[in-house]
Amino acid sequence: MELFIAFILGITIGSFLNVVILRIPRDESVVFDASHCYSCSKPLKPWHNIPIFSWLFLRGKCSYCHSKISPMYPAIELLSGLVFVVLANKFGISFPVLMIAMSFLMLLALSMIDFKYKMVPDSLNLLAILFAVFGAWSLNGVILNLQNALLFAGGFTLLRFSLSYMLTSSARRRAKKTMTSWTKNYHAYPFIEAMGEGDIMVAATMGALLGVKLTLVAIFLSALLALPVMLALRNRSAEEQRVPFVPFLAMATFIVYIFDSPILAYIEANY
Ligand SMILES: [Zn+2]
Repeated sequence: MELFIAFILGITIGSFLNVVILRIPRDESVVFDASHCYSCSKPLKPWHNIPIFSWLFLRGKCSYCHSKISPMYPAIELLSGLVFVVLANKFGISFPVLMIAMSFLMLLALSMIDFKYKMVPDSLNLLAILFAVFGAWSLNGVILNLQNALLFAGGFTLLRFSLSYMLTSSARRRAKKTMTSWTKNYHAYPFIEAMGEGDIMVAATMGALLGVKLTLVAIFLSALLALPVMLALRNRSAEEQRVPFVPFLAMATFIVYIFDSPILAYIEANY
């Protein structure tokens, strides 16, 4: 029964998550506009908004103009339901578990938006961190989560700073060779950023959810997960090679979160 409640709650919030994924990149209001079809703009009836079932019942088409509705909508709802069920199965239903589940749903929304638009909205990032920090069973837990969030935000900032410095200074050295002494002092050099600011905030969320050891495992796992994709894209153009990284970080975080005990046992046994 508990798992059924968790599933219903998950798909309902997942349905709202679809609205967030669709509207935040377009700068539209998430709350104050009624749902409408994006092809014919007709407002949807309440029974068109039932998670998963409406899509199945309408066979993936708008009931007015019969234009196709992306299977991404029921897929996001189903994924959200599964996140809630898996977490409820592991911890039962309580306020901290709800916070943790919400943090993972924010990561899911961030992943979809990063994948579709190659952007990482600050609003969702901040919500993800906030939910993750309050996903604790005691005040000490909240403080520890906050410490871990700050640790990884700081660590990633330092990493980005160093990488950007290396990339920028090697670009300068290359540029200097082609410049005359006349233009050298007047030319503004480009500053190359090694990773997005958004990734730093995702790392903070990971720190709060997983703690130090498991976050390092999750970062390693995310690189492993991204590797086949990067290899598959290695012959494409530079723009296409920019793989959105948040989906891999989010996936790895969830996997490590669920299998935390065997991973920690393995680390303890081997080091
Ligand atoms: Zn329509």
